[in-house]
Amino acid sequence: MLANHYDPLLVAISFVIAILAAWTALNMAGRVSTSEGRAAWLWLSGGSIAMGIGVWAMHFIGMLAMDSVMSVRYSPGLTALSMLVAIASSLFALWLVSVDKLRLKRLLPGGVVMGTGVVSMHYIGMAAMEVDPAIVWDYRWVTLSVIIALIASFAALWLTFRLRHEAAQVALMRFGAAVIMGIAIAGMHYTGMMAAHFPQQMTMDHRGVDGNWLAVLVSVITLFILGITLLISMLDARLQARTALLASSLAKANTELAQLALQDPLTRLPNRVLFEDRLDQAISQSNREERPFALMFMDLDGFKAVNDAFGHDVGDKLLMAVTERLQEPLEGQYTLARIGGDEFVLLADIQAPDDAARLADALVQSIDKPFIIDPYELVVTLSAGIAIYPHDGQNERELMFNADAAMYHTKHSGRNGYHFFQPSMNTFAQQQLQLMNDLWVAEERGELRLHYQPKFEALSGTIIGFEALLRWEHPTKGLLSPDLFLPLAEKTGIIIPMGNWVINEACRQLGEWRAQGQHSWSMAVNLSALQFEQPTLIETIMACLVSHAIPPEMLILEVTETTAMHNPEQSVAVLTRLTELGVKASIDDFGTGYSSLLYLKRLPASELKIDRAFVKELKGEGEDATIVSAIVALAQTLNLRVVAEGVETQEQREFLTQLGCSTLQGYLLGRPVGAETIRIES
Ligand code: C2E
Ligand code: CA
Ligand code: CA
Repeated sequence: MLANHYDPLLVAISFVIAILAAWTALNMAGRVSTSEGRAAWLWLSGGSIAMGIGVWAMHFIGMLAMDSVMSVRYSPGLTALSMLVAIASSLFALWLVSVDKLRLKRLLPGGVVMGTGVVSMHYIGMAAMEVDPAIVWDYRWVTLSVIIALIASFAALWLTFRLRHEAAQVALMRFGAAVIMGIAIAGMHYTGMMAAHFPQQMTMDHRGVDGNWLAVLVSVITLFILGITLLISMLDARLQARTALLASSLAKANTELAQLALQDPLTRLPNRVLFEDRLDQAISQSNREERPFALMFMDLDGFKAVNDAFGHDVGDKLLMAVTERLQEPLEGQYTLARIGGDEFVLLADIQAPDDAARLADALVQSIDKPFIIDPYELVVTLSAGIAIYPHDGQNERELMFNADAAMYHTKHSGRNGYHFFQPSMNTFAQQQLQLMNDLWVAEERGELRLHYQPKFEALSGTIIGFEALLRWEHPTKGLLSPDLFLPLAEKTGIIIPMGNWVINEACRQLGEWRAQGQHSWSMAVNLSALQFEQPTLIETIMACLVSHAIPPEMLILEVTETTAMHNPEQSVAVLTRLTELGVKASIDDFGTGYSSLLYLKRLPASELKIDRAFVKELKGEGEDATIVSAIVALAQTLNLRVVAEGVETQEQREFLTQLGCSTLQGYLLGRPVGAETIRIES
């Protein structure tokens, strides 16, 4: 019997291929487990083909490396089968390690299956050698090769699973693992070969092909396949890492944004939005568990003075210090929020009203010590009001309102303390609450009305248009004028839907008049500051114009100076956009606000309405006459039409006309009336 001899170069190549196949396996496992759906399947199938071919090629080249003088033929069927077994084992191995958790229960049988696969591949490959006389097997070596195959498979699976997600930093570790796995694969092969004793020196007869050429061909193809697979997998891994980085920074930005929307940026306390949500939850929880909770309104006494005297910086620092002190006595479940300049609210779980009293007392005490805001020593105190759910209010609105009323009661009775809400405490607040509840449903119940006051051309006395003025037909109180409900509507935000109703109704009415032949009339609508700050305002207005077929220049938006000054930059932007679309703007109540001339110049208005306070006192000479003539002169240089409102006497009418006011409006000429009273003369 002859010992086997090997070609050292081919042996070396077989080792390199084994290591590369192992390296591919590690990469593929990472790809499969981090991809999803179709991509995962592609990696699994492509990866196992590359890996299987790699492992198989290693064995095949290992066999070719054997120097022999005996004649050998390879059965193509069995050779192909051995390759298929290699691919199938790879597929199984990759699938096994791509799961989230690899337990011993799974790893052990997995190693057995894979080891069996490798052993089968090897011995099928050997069986493909058609040698005569037949190979003599040494079963001790066969057993050893099977043991090595099992241990190697087991170790390979475990290493691959562990290292599949490791990043580039451990590339060296991965490479080491690939080397060990490669040596194990090759080791199994060469032990298997030791088991085979060829009775006669073989001469290679690979169907006429030179054995070395076959080895080179198989090596090149295998290296090519493995190389391509590795390259693609590395590119994909890089891409995936970049995408993951982007996704995580996006997620971070999102959380920050969400936080900003719910948090007061200065004190980091919840803001009004989040607080209302918590209050809502507290009410549901309280209903479920039949337990009360306390809502406390807190307002600092003397904060405004500090802000005015020392500036906003100091004011901000004081607010942060106050926040800290307010948090000291709080324990258990609570929500402390800042809902306005120096307004805080607290939601706290309580067993009995006494708990709320103790808490309120502790909070008041905590603020009643000087604050050191370098270099100042500042003194502020706390006024609080408490409402208990469900006793002092059935819903969020009532509860907030009543806690607020109790807080005002504290303010009016000496500050620096707290009061529980009591129904008798504040009938005004009660009425306001009732009115507010009614106001919420006024629009849907169809209680809103518009009255129209005519505007006249001063010289000819013809009507040039109307101003729409809101009225509320209250079910018990009768027709209410805006000063009775507008402040409330503005405070609660109801002004937004209400204002939209006004715009639409005014446009609808004008459309009706136009249909009856009045094409020269314009319509003026008043806008509140809150409405003016709505991003959807322009859209709403344009939609109303379109739906009632009103030319934009027939609509005049009346905005007071104070409204426009609330957010000057935005006001200029909104009015500019609207005038570009053709809508006209009018500056209402002129003379009562800031009257910044520079700013006025930037507002794209076409009309200026002198406030009726000036008109009221108007006599031949005197201060008001001087102011009115100055306003008229100013308006003329700015190319604005001047409207005088509140004209009640003939004397005022003549004087204003003389001064150069082009339009007049007032009780003398026409009171605000319902549309049904306005006669159309054609
Ligand atoms: P305004 O824009 O200055 O409207 C003129 C107010 O003066 C009207 O009061 C009108 O009835 C009254 N008025 C007209 N001529 C005379 C007069 O000769 N003498 C006197 N003493 N008063 C006269 P009204 O209708 O009570 O409206 C009060 C304010 O409510 C309005 O002041 C306006 O700022 C606001 N308003 C009215 N309707 C709306 C609306 O639909 N939306 C908004 N946001 N505000 C509105
Ligand atoms: Ca007005
Ligand atoms: Ca006015």
